[in-house]
Amino acid sequence: MNEFSSRRHFIKGLAATAIGAAAAGPMLSHAAGGDVSPVKVAEGGPTKARNLIFMVSDGMNHGTLSAAQHWLKLREGRNSEWMTLYQDRLAVRRLTDTAAADSLVTDSAAASSAWGIGQRVNLGSVNCLPSGATPMPLAMLAKKAGKKAGMVTTARITHATPAGFAANVPHRDEEDLIAEQYLERGLDVLLGGGGRHFDASRRKDGRDLFGAYRDGGYEVVQSRVAMEALLPSSKPLLGVFSKSHIPYWIDRQHEVGLGLETPSLESMTRLALERLSSHPEGFVLQVEAGRVDHAGHANDPASLLFEQLEFDRCIRLVRDFAQAHPDTVVVVTTDHGTGGFMINGAEDAYHLAGPSLLRLGNCRASLERLGRLLNPEQPQSGLVELIRDNLGVEVGPVALARMLEQMASRPITEAFPLEYVFCDAIRPVLHEAFLTGWTSTHHTGDLVELAMWGPGADLLPLFSENWQLHGVLRQVLSI
Ligand SMILES: [Zn+2]
Repeated sequence: MNEFSSRRHFIKGLAATAIGAAAAGPMLSHAAGGDVSPVKVAEGGPTKARNLIFMVSDGMNHGTLSAAQHWLKLREGRNSEWMTLYQDRLAVRRLTDTAAADSLVTDSAAASSAWGIGQRVNLGSVNCLPSGATPMPLAMLAKKAGKKAGMVTTARITHATPAGFAANVPHRDEEDLIAEQYLERGLDVLLGGGGRHFDASRRKDGRDLFGAYRDGGYEVVQSRVAMEALLPSSKPLLGVFSKSHIPYWIDRQHEVGLGLETPSLESMTRLALERLSSHPEGFVLQVEAGRVDHAGHANDPASLLFEQLEFDRCIRLVRDFAQAHPDTVVVVTTDHGTGGFMINGAEDAYHLAGPSLLRLGNCRASLERLGRLLNPEQPQSGLVELIRDNLGVEVGPVALARMLEQMASRPITEAFPLEYVFCDAIRPVLHEAFLTGWTSTHHTGDLVELAMWGPGADLLPLFSENWQLHGVLRQVLSI
C-alpha cells in the first residue's frame, strides 16, 4: 500500500512536518515557505472571515484576461466581471509570482501546493516537500477547524489544482490515489470531471470508488440531469460528469447532446455554494476554470476565450454570494500563464485587431474536437470544409499546402497524436485569421493578477510570492 493512501499515514505525515521543515536545510533558489512576511493590517473593517471562495483561472496569461475584457466591451459594451472588480473598487488588486521550489516556471501541482501549504514544493508534487514531509493542506486545515470544504472544476476533480487544496501525493499523476484521499478526508463537495479515477473498470486497482463514496454516505451523481434533480441535503456530494476533463464550453454549446450531459462551471459553483453555505462554521471552496490552461497548451484561441468568459461569469455569481454573505473572503487569480497568449496588431493594420478578435465568435468547435473529427487515415480529406464549417476560416491553397506538408512531416505517436499534429499545423492559419499569437505551448513565468475582497483582503502585500497567500488566508479564517 502506498504510504500516502490512508488517513493514518496522512496524520503521521503531518506530525513529521515540523521536523521535516526544520531538517530541510537551505532550499533551492525559488523555494520559500514557513512564515508569512509581515504584512500591514488593514485599516478599519473586519479582518476575520467565516468563508473562503478561492477562484482559479488555470493558466491565464494577461493576454487572456485582456481578450475577455476586449471581447465583452466590443460585443456587449461592458467590462468583464474581473475588470469591474477593479474599476468599481470592489476588490484589491495584487501581483504575485508563480514559481515552484525548483523552477521559475511552475506547473499547477507546485503552484496549487504553494497556496495549499504555504511552502513551495518541486514541480509535479502535490503538497509534499522535498524532505518528504506532507503538511496539512488548506482545505483540511479548514475542516479541522470545523468548516466544510469542497472543490469545483472543469478539469478532472483529481487534477493538480483541486488536489493542491486537499491532497498530499508525491506526484500529481497519482490521481487514483487522490480520489481515495478525498474520500478518506471527507471533502464535502466535489464537482468536476475525472470519472476514470472513480470507475472500477478504469482504475488500476479495479476498486469501485463510486460505490465506496456511496457507502461513505455521499450522494453521487454522474450527469447534468441527475445533478439538477438533487434536492437540498446536508450529505456530502460527489458529482463527476466526464471520464476525463469536462468538455470545453464551446463544444458543450455546439456538439449535439454534450451540453445536456455536462453542467457548466456556473451551475456547479452555484450548487456547491448552496450545499456549503448553510454550515454554521463556514466553508472553504475552490472554483477552477481548469481548461483555460488546456486551451493555452493547444494554442486554441476560441476555446481559451470562451473558457475564460465562463470563469468570468462565475465571478459575478460569487460576487453576488459574497454580497449576501459579507463574512466571505474571495480570491480570484491564476496559478501561472500558459501559451503566452496575446492579441496582436497586424503589420500596417492595427485596426484589424478588434474585428479579428470578434471573428472568434464564428468558431463552433475546439481544436481538440476537430482533431478527433479528422480522418486518421486521410487527414487531408475534408480538411478545408471542416475548418470553414467549425472555425469560420477559409484556408487558401498555399496555406493548405503548408498545413498538409507539416502534418505529413510529423510522425503520429501515442505521445503526440493526430490532434496535436493538427494543432501545430493550423497555428499560422489561426494567427492570420484572428491576429492572436502565442509564445509556446508551455507554461510561462510571468507575474500574475490576483483580485481579493472581503474581510482581510488587503492583508496581502501589493506584490507577493505565491506561497504567502496561504498564511494570509489562515490568518483571515482563523485556521
Ligand atoms: Zn498546464
